[in-house]
Amino acid sequence: MTNDGKELLPQNIQSLWQEHAVEKSFPVLEDRVSADVVVVGGGLTGLTTAYLLAKEGKEVVLLEAGNLMTGTSGHTTAKVSVQHDVIYDEFLQRFGLEKTKAYYKANDEAFRWMKGMVEQHQIDCDWEEQPSYLYTTQDLSVDKLEREARAYEQLHIPGGVYEGQLPEYLNAQKAIVVPSQAQFHPVRYARFLLSECERLGVRLFEHSPAIKVNFGTLPVVHCRNGAEAQGDHVLICTHFPFVDTHGFYFARMHVSRSYVLAVESDVDKPDGMFLEIDPPQHSLRTAKAEDGTPLLLVGGEGHKTGQGINTHKPYEHLLSYASRAFGVKSVHYRWSAQDLVTNDKLPFIGPMTEQHRNVLVATGFRKWGMTTSAAAAHILARYVEGKEEESMFSPARFGSMKQLIRDNMDVAKHLVRGKFGLLQKHVDDIKPGEGDVVLHQGERVGIYREPEGKVHAVDTTCTHVGCEVNWNASDLAWECPCHGSRFDIDGLVLNGPAEKPLRVIDVDERIE
Ligand SMILES: Cc1cc2nc3c(=O)[nH]c(=O)nc-3n(C[C@H](O)[C@H](O)[C@H](O)COP(=O)(O)OP(=O)(O)OC[C@H]3O[C@@H](n4cnc5c(N)ncnc54)[C@H](O)[C@@H]3O)c2cc1C
Repeated sequence: MTNDGKELLPQNIQSLWQEHAVEKSFPVLEDRVSADVVVVGGGLTGLTTAYLLAKEGKEVVLLEAGNLMTGTSGHTTAKVSVQHDVIYDEFLQRFGLEKTKAYYKANDEAFRWMKGMVEQHQIDCDWEEQPSYLYTTQDLSVDKLEREARAYEQLHIPGGVYEGQLPEYLNAQKAIVVPSQAQFHPVRYARFLLSECERLGVRLFEHSPAIKVNFGTLPVVHCRNGAEAQGDHVLICTHFPFVDTHGFYFARMHVSRSYVLAVESDVDKPDGMFLEIDPPQHSLRTAKAEDGTPLLLVGGEGHKTGQGINTHKPYEHLLSYASRAFGVKSVHYRWSAQDLVTNDKLPFIGPMTEQHRNVLVATGFRKWGMTTSAAAAHILARYVEGKEEESMFSPARFGSMKQLIRDNMDVAKHLVRGKFGLLQKHVDDIKPGEGDVVLHQGERVGIYREPEGKVHAVDTTCTHVGCEVNWNASDLAWECPCHGSRFDIDGLVLNGPAEKPLRVIDVDERIE
């Protein structure tokens, strides 16, 4: 083994949960269907919403661009908790007592609903109650945790300052706790929702990417292959809303990527789920491999997506942290995923715009989408049933103008820096297995060379608003620093908001 132990990292990027992927497949939508409700997106938000509505007797069609549960919900760390990082003190300052209470209540009710589902239906999803801890290793952040604990008191959130001893290797100066939270296996849980959806008559379609919505009394979702789905309501549960003509969501959210390792260690199984509040925000929970081997999920190293970071490094940093902290025998899985953060940190759940109240959206879960997706599903279902007037999560709320300008300064910076940055490399400089942006015949071209030598070349201008994409070496993907769109080596869209692929360039033909 080398000093840094890098060879322990598995070659493949795959999440632990995908080992237990949804086995069943569903047809492609080929023609025109209509239903009471069209749900777009088959992650936890879409599946939970479809289930709730079907249970209320609604006719539901669900469209998924790829395979069900392979988006962020299949790449999460799956802590089910109302302890959403250090947030309650900040929300009290920003939104006041009533709104902050409402945020906590929505997530607490969602937690209880999920727990009730697991218990009532005996869902085999490794649901395990655990205390949830936030901790700091730095004197400077102790005060921040104490303020958060006072916010818990004010909001009647159980727990507060933790007087016990966290595992020594976390090196905690101070910790706060919320007892009786949970961790689970999100795909096993979703498989139950899916079987219930089928039983209740939800019509499910995979490999049916939606590209457009015609707004109106009966909105119509158009798929890439020309198929259409019409409903009284359309619910956009696609993570980043694929329709952004009216809401300007891209200007009101940023995308943050985090990394996870599933490691085997000789250390005693820690009791609890842990999150460090200072960067790189190490996260820890237990899990088990399909063969029952106990694992530790070590996460963190979050950053804004596509900002030119060497994406091998976060995995190496996590491995070196875990090796130092508790020792690593082997690494079973590694994966990364991204989530959306709104300018004011509250999710967007509700009608897309004031004018189009029958097209609704749920997004911006800030890496706390286990309870938030269940809360969102209940809110969306209430809107559909005409029971929800307006919620504090409504996307129509006024986003922070300061943050809006700051985020878009960032976009502008990447637009400009991307276009005019100096490029030193040419196609021949890219070695087998490498990717980078090169200068080719006066143009910026994104090159990936397979280990066997085949070259894949794309135009690096993102098809969303024209920023320049960067190479993500560990995921073999092109990523946009502005709004987080991701493309594969041949330019096909992996994650929106971009809808169109990057232009493929035939470099071989053009070599002078
Ligand atoms: C690394 C990481 C760790 C996390 N850990 C936690 C945690 O411990 N606890 C917690 O509470 N939260 C956590 N989260 C957040 C949580 O995982 C997400 O908020 C949640 O899974 C989002 O669910 P979703 O259904 O909204 O989105 P997704 O699961 O991404 O589902 C969206 C679906 O829509 C489909 N889709 C997209 N575009 C289209 C289209 N045009 N047409 C049709 N279908 C489309 C996608 O293919 C996808 O299947 C974490 C997030 C990350 C990134």
